Amino acid sequence: MSFKSLGLIPELLKAVNKQGYHTPSPIQEKTIPIILEGRDVLASAQTGTGKTAGFTLPLLQTLDATRKQRHRPIRALILTPTRELAAQVHDNVRDYAQFLDIKSTVIFGGVNAKPQIRTIRGGIDILVATPGRLLDLENQGALSLGRVEILVLDEADRMLDMGFLRDIKKVISLMPKQRQNLLFSATFSKDIKKLAEGILHRPVLVEAEPENSTAQKVEHKTFSVDKADKVEVTIKLIADGNWKQVLIFTRTKHRANRLSEKLVKAGISSAAIHGNKSQGARTKALSGFKSSKIRVLVATDIAARGLDIPLLPHVINFELPNVPEDYVHRIGRTGRAGASGEAISLVDVDERDYLRDIEKLLGEKLPSEIIAGFEPTAKPAGSKPKQRGGNNRNKKRKPRPQNNSNQNSGGQNKNRNRNRRR
Ligand code: AMP
Repeated sequence: MSFKSLGLIPELLKAVNKQGYHTPSPIQEKTIPIILEGRDVLASAQTGTGKTAGFTLPLLQTLDATRKQRHRPIRALILTPTRELAAQVHDNVRDYAQFLDIKSTVIFGGVNAKPQIRTIRGGIDILVATPGRLLDLENQGALSLGRVEILVLDEADRMLDMGFLRDIKKVISLMPKQRQNLLFSATFSKDIKKLAEGILHRPVLVEAEPENSTAQKVEHKTFSVDKADKVEVTIKLIADGNWKQVLIFTRTKHRANRLSEKLVKAGISSAAIHGNKSQGARTKALSGFKSSKIRVLVATDIAARGLDIPLLPHVINFELPNVPEDYVHRIGRTGRAGASGEAISLVDVDERDYLRDIEKLLGEKLPSEIIAGFEPTAKPAGSKPKQRGGNNRNKKRKPRPQNNSNQNSGGQNKNRNRNRRR
């Protein structure tokens, strides 16, 4: 199968060729012809499947084929949950549109709105946006959605998780009823199906099994450790394994900062990425990580969502997520594109409930191991530390602090309210 046989025009074939893509990915094979027919699409696809080109290429072709208007009203809107994803999607849009007379821009919060408004006033065909900033600018009269012909909801499940349902409904109320709708989501929950029913018109269902599907290629490992030892264990794992690129997840922004600082002190280049960081700092951290200038990226769940980081051999859950689905999203960052990956979770005694919830969701028990020299003093029930002959532990144990963290303590945190502000 070639891109040409999917019916793409020469300008897009040239752009795709310039990207170095030779064959369409499974999701692209499925979505491109359907979108070119003008049908609505409900697609299950995660980051890493090539979904962005899957909707952007046909969207560009459709816009190119219809009459261009001098003032360039916004004719296509791509909504994404996070700033990083919006920026990434727009980079792709620009790359693929480079041989066409189509203008685009991206808007998101956390940065000055004025340049965004100026660009929109100059006329653009495609707008990539996060919901908050979009509604903000619409309210100010800086943009109109009254001429939108194609709507893309990217990572719709995450938008719902982040509480954007009302915003999405509001955005839809501002657009013409007659339009093409493309909804992409990593999972098809009940809520997504309900949202899809309300938005899509006789959609074609596309379920491309992602090549980077986690379960088969990712090796899950859990280590029982004391909370107080997690930093040292993390440093040991990275140093002993000589890992060059590691993504580490924490539950909180504060913990992400602290851990990153400690890694830097230990001589491991690292940056934290989360919602309290300025957009500039987030972009810098991500590009440093991608270009291997930074060895470790410490991220909170929401900040990491949708990031296009190919081929990560190692993901560490410094803290387990309190929402089990986040574990699946986290480990979706490793074992990508057919390569194998390792997802390591450091589990302290307070996180056993989280682990149980994750195992229930995965439908499997994750093997638990103990690292020599870091045996937990508070042992999870059912775990049998291996006997090492003569107890050769040479590490002096620190006393367990009474309260060593101002984080949520897992045992008490039964709050499943997804109280996760960016
Ligand atoms: P996405 O799932 O859209 O985030 O894309 C994941 C990565 O795959 C991006 O780095 C794309 O540039 C890349 N990509 C998209 N389509 C193809 C393709 N047909 N062949 C090779 N790489 C691709």
